[in-house]
Amino acid sequence: MFLPKEKLRPFAFPGAVVVGAVVGAEQARQLTAYRVPTVLTLICGLAVFATVHTAVRDLIEQLCAQTHRCRVDGCRFRVRLINPDPVENRRWQEAAAAHPTHTLARH
Ligand SMILES: [Zn+2]
Repeated sequence: MFLPKEKLRPFAFPGAVVVGAVVGAEQARQLTAYRVPTVLTLICGLAVFATVHTAVRDLIEQLCAQTHRCRVDGCRFRVRLINPDPVENRRWQEAAAAHPTHTLARH
């Protein structure tokens, strides 16, 4: 069931469109049962579609993101990259390992 990041990434956009369309259509179907005017039903369905689509796409993007953290104890510095190329990934990995000011957690 659990897919590697590289295999999950191509499904981010089409998966988000399908989920958004299903949820938006269901919302519109429920509104028609209450005899809401067609224009309002269409607007609400599209708004739900856009919101769910964006949320699902962002969730998948975050699941596929590459994160580099500073290894100093207590330092909270981290970099999250979405779909980096190998050169960019390596550059940020080095930057996270050797950044000049550590942001230590305060208690
Ligand atoms: Zn640090």
